[in-house]
Amino acid sequence: MRRRRKTKILATLGPSSNTPERIRALFEAGADAFRINMSHTSHAGLADFHRIVRGLEEDVGRPIGILVDLQGPKIRLGELAGGVREVHKGDKVHLVRRMTADNPSDIPIPHAEVFAALQPGEALLIDDGKVRLRIESVTKESAEAVVETDGVLKDKKGVNLPDTVLPIPAMTPKDRSDLDAALHLGVDWIALSFVQRPDDVAELKKAVGSRAACLTKIEKPRAIEWLSEILDLSDALMVARGDLGVELPVQEVPGKQKYITRMARKAGKPVVVATQMLESMITAPVPTRAEVTDVANAVFDGADAVMLSAESAAGQFPVEAVSMMDSIAMTVEGDPLYLSIINSQRNAPEATTADAIMAAVHEVTNTIHARAIVCWTKSGSTALRASRERSDAPIIALTPTLEVSRRLSLAWGLHCIYTEDAQDLDDMVDRAARFAFLAGFAKPGERIVVTAGVPLRTPGATNMLRVAFVGPQKERANSE
Ligand code: PGA
Ligand code: MN
Repeated sequence: MRRRRKTKILATLGPSSNTPERIRALFEAGADAFRINMSHTSHAGLADFHRIVRGLEEDVGRPIGILVDLQGPKIRLGELAGGVREVHKGDKVHLVRRMTADNPSDIPIPHAEVFAALQPGEALLIDDGKVRLRIESVTKESAEAVVETDGVLKDKKGVNLPDTVLPIPAMTPKDRSDLDAALHLGVDWIALSFVQRPDDVAELKKAVGSRAACLTKIEKPRAIEWLSEILDLSDALMVARGDLGVELPVQEVPGKQKYITRMARKAGKPVVVATQMLESMITAPVPTRAEVTDVANAVFDGADAVMLSAESAAGQFPVEAVSMMDSIAMTVEGDPLYLSIINSQRNAPEATTADAIMAAVHEVTNTIHARAIVCWTKSGSTALRASRERSDAPIIALTPTLEVSRRLSLAWGLHCIYTEDAQDLDDMVDRAARFAFLAGFAKPGERIVVTAGVPLRTPGATNMLRVAFVGPQKERANSE
């Protein structure tokens, strides 16, 4: 099965998509990889999703990525005396370092780190930013604040501290235990929420090792300040617009989305644009015009993947949401302006042999209208450099590493095929042509551009570009 779409779709799994039939329907509608959100999934649920997706992969014969999203150090209110409390602009409120408030006028926050790090003048946002407080004074045990927006406080609502760098570890005990469960199953990507500093990513990488690739969710203003260092350490980024839009003035999010996608593309690392993309489809079979435009603009930005959250996890129209994303992306990619917009942000190759070869591959492919770029990749790095060029031709990534083929499912334009390593140069070219033909990208007599590292089996040594004709092919060889 082949997709013509270059932008990938990452669909979150949840109660609306928890059976083999439903997950298969999401895949058939266009989902390329699946996200499991540990804020809402038990270890048993995670194991079920993993088993179903791997079973689907086996059935359809295409690598499918699984991303496990760790909740990260999310701060929440404790329990209010009485469960709810209305606050009004101008009210003075008293925050206490406690799990449960005895006094109805106290707002409990059960995190010592918050009181250790908060400074007068900083903002404290509650319940997705619906209530905004401004801190006036702080001690180790409590803080005084003024309410800036009217609202209602309820037990356990989320707290965002956009101005504060919290002295908390990147991963909570829950994250560590979720991570263990995910790595034990053998998932492909681990995403970390509320990253503040490059060290947070380093901590995740250390815990994960080479067992999975690591995606950093950019949802804190501090993470944007350190984006370049964070990007160096990460394997991919997510523009997590939900929390980012709480922590930043919401009108700044579109500009940050463009900045983050450009930085990731320059580094040749996948970037996912996420949250509220087709939000109204949680309860309606069709999206709003504005949502369609939002998804389309993420595709025009050159995002590697667009994501569905509650739309596919808990909504009433999960398959329709994936289909809608698929047709938006396909339509944009076919728009006469698409390639020129994408190419206007093309980055110069870095001074490496691999990049020089990839820039040449891009030129040669365009000049001779080659039908496909076929790239042999062991670690996946060559394929990501090919993806970074954003060429018009499809890129077939042939890899002898199953894990790599799954990880690459998030990357723009890559059609990944897991296959045994080539025997020699002739085998490399012959099989490249055969896969291009079998996957439906090229017909006999058409040209492809093949790239690899020679001598064979030296990872990271891409140094060969070869133009090949697809020879006469049988539909299916007996050996296959
Ligand atoms: P979440 O992350 O859905 O885990 O909160 C995405 C976001 O904040 O946009
Ligand atoms: Mn978030």
